[in-house]
Amino acid sequence: MNALAATSRNFRRAARLLNLDSKLEKSLLIPFREIKVECTIPKDDGTLVSYVGFRVQHDNSRGPMKGGIRYHPEVDPDEVNALAQLMTWKTAVADIPYGGAKGGIGCNPKDLSKSELERLTRVFTQKIHDLIGVQTDVPAPDMGTNAQTMAWILDEYSKFHGHSPAIVTGKPIDLGGSLGREAATGRGVVYATKALLEEHGKSVKDLTFAIQGFGNVGSWAGRLLHEQGGKVVAVSDITGAVKNSNGLDIPSLLKHKEDTGSLKNFSGGDDMPAEHLLGQECDVLIPCALGGVLNRENAQDVRAKYIIEAANHPTDPDADEILSKNGVIVLPDIYANSGGVTVSYFEWVQNIQGFMWDEEKVNRELKKYMTRAFLNIKNMCQTHNCDLRMGAFTLGVNRVARATMLRGWEA
Ligand code: GLU
Repeated sequence: MNALAATSRNFRRAARLLNLDSKLEKSLLIPFREIKVECTIPKDDGTLVSYVGFRVQHDNSRGPMKGGIRYHPEVDPDEVNALAQLMTWKTAVADIPYGGAKGGIGCNPKDLSKSELERLTRVFTQKIHDLIGVQTDVPAPDMGTNAQTMAWILDEYSKFHGHSPAIVTGKPIDLGGSLGREAATGRGVVYATKALLEEHGKSVKDLTFAIQGFGNVGSWAGRLLHEQGGKVVAVSDITGAVKNSNGLDIPSLLKHKEDTGSLKNFSGGDDMPAEHLLGQECDVLIPCALGGVLNRENAQDVRAKYIIEAANHPTDPDADEILSKNGVIVLPDIYANSGGVTVSYFEWVQNIQGFMWDEEKVNRELKKYMTRAFLNIKNMCQTHNCDLRMGAFTLGVNRVARATMLRGWEA
């Protein structure tokens, strides 16, 4: 199912549970602003190449719009729209004073040199600089972008508006980035996992985990679960997949990937086809890659008891139904991966205050926010007699609806 259709379907289900006014429901679904820009750059060999860049600003009733910028061949308007909408509910679930946005460029960053990526990022920033701002819309990294990308945006934006470290989050520490931001999404995934497991009387060290995606989020989640005694029995990424039913040594696997550029041929495990990962025998499955990976075709194959959505919208609504029938508990993306944007908020606050927190404080505060959000979601599950996805959606949508009504949306 198309990402926007899936996200909107979840939103509508939540709106119904909340008995939301139908006019308000409609207005919350329509994005505040959609931006589409042409980005032409000279390649290193001098030839010109054009890309299309997007920024969708979904809602700003609770504060400046916030969300990542993705560089990926599959970036398209519907996908960015869905991801922007998810950011609105996510920041509300985390209860941080932001709205939601998302951006992206339809390109394959692996095919571009560093200087081509820099030129592309600067051109994109030139095209959108008037429409983003410290109190308007604050970008961050997402798939295919990183702290270096944010440094280029900061530099380009500052040429027009003066030095503005708070214009992006997920920046390098030397430019005002926050300690702990790099690991924050993965760390938040682990806090979220533990909150759910504790509720079920279980502990990380007694369980097995399978991780799809071994980039920033998957590798940090894997490293932290491993450190805490969890057995990571399978890992996959675009280069391949590896399994070991006794548990993979994650630091060695990370070193192997760094040295060889691939998960294949790791001496501490057996190679397997990457498409087997989602059906792997394990207690907890953590998709950390693209959206829509769990769908009507493969949801039946899942053997895990829990799914922690570290990726954005990895499970489409058809898969949700199948998983729920099979008794699989799904911890939804708008909560499970909110650690990244939560520490982005801490970074923005530090920039505005001109003050730097130590890493221990960042992690402590992150744990506080993740624990609080889980309790708030559970309350909504009880109130509306619903699953965790609808618990999170009703929590987020209700907060945004209240802010919108307080501002006087009917006038
Ligand atoms: N791209 C991340 C997400 O999907 C982080 C967004 C941010 O920090 O603004 O939540």
